[in-house]
Amino acid sequence: MTYLKEKSYNNFFSHIYIEKGIADNRKCREITDKFPNARIIYIGHYKDVFCGGNRNFAKEKKSPSLILAKKTDNFIYKGAKVCQDFGNDNFYYTSNIMNCYFDCEYCYLQGMYRSGNIVIFVNMEDIFSAVDEALEKHSVYLCISYDTDMLAMENITGFIKEWVEYARDKENLKIEIRTKSCNIKSIENIKACGNIVFAWTLSPESIIEKYEHLTGRFDKRREAVKKCCELGWKVRLCFDPMIYCKEFEKVYGEAIRRAFEDIDEKYIDGVSIGVFRISKEYMKIMKKQRKSTVTLFPYKNVNGVYCYGEETDKRMVGFAKNEVMKYIGKDKIFVWGEQ
Ligand code: SF4
Repeated sequence: MTYLKEKSYNNFFSHIYIEKGIADNRKCREITDKFPNARIIYIGHYKDVFCGGNRNFAKEKKSPSLILAKKTDNFIYKGAKVCQDFGNDNFYYTSNIMNCYFDCEYCYLQGMYRSGNIVIFVNMEDIFSAVDEALEKHSVYLCISYDTDMLAMENITGFIKEWVEYARDKENLKIEIRTKSCNIKSIENIKACGNIVFAWTLSPESIIEKYEHLTGRFDKRREAVKKCCELGWKVRLCFDPMIYCKEFEKVYGEAIRRAFEDIDEKYIDGVSIGVFRISKEYMKIMKKQRKSTVTLFPYKNVNGVYCYGEETDKRMVGFAKNEVMKYIGKDKIFVWGEQ
């Protein structure tokens, strides 16, 4: 677990809650074997320790427990309107894992979940069956790392390896794995697969410093992207969500220039650009959880979605797009809201 030691709180995963019904599940045993010193507590249902009004997301986030559970419904969801589909039809996402090892101050998970604990659904085969069913009807674009950072969790779950093997021979399936992790070592031994794309959010160093706790630093992320390309994987560079700051042009201009410094365009499947946006409801909860310049910003409410406002959004996106176009063709650039 070296990647966890690098920048971790020592008290992560000292407790593992397991739904009684899955105690003998293969993946459940694989995961618990990795934490020989953890206290195991058997529970009836994951919601007993994940849901409920008295939970405190911020407090639990400081020393999260793992919850191993069985997913029983909603195996795949239709993509939400605040998410990019990158021109793909039939855009879905799935939550194999709920909650994230990292702790970004702008993360919508703070508004979505009451608990800071991390739920891992171990019954992969049921999720695969739901994807099989969808694939019988049409092609599928599936995001598997939305409500978590799956690469950061790979040493614990081995889920990426299983998703890759599942997807390898399915021509009408494309999978996106979004990440801010540098845990590239965990995928070094997996043979690259053409229908998987790793999408790295490349936040500028000052944004990482201020708002993203425990994530990989900018240079480390850049190295991870480069390594991923060398291993033969498709990558997407994401300047999304861009967080407003006074020196926006300087900060993001530098990040974009450095991102393309030693990553050859030919390896890049696409570039995603978008400003921070979030549902009004989530932000209301986030403000109670955490007082931060990102939660206290005077956002504009556009049809229930908080954003910086049309003028600022356009200025930020326009600037980023022009900068990115210095390095890559327009056809590979996806701007949120332009599709
Ligand atoms: S890496 Fe993504 S999912 Fe994880 S805390 Fe940050 S914004 Fe949330």
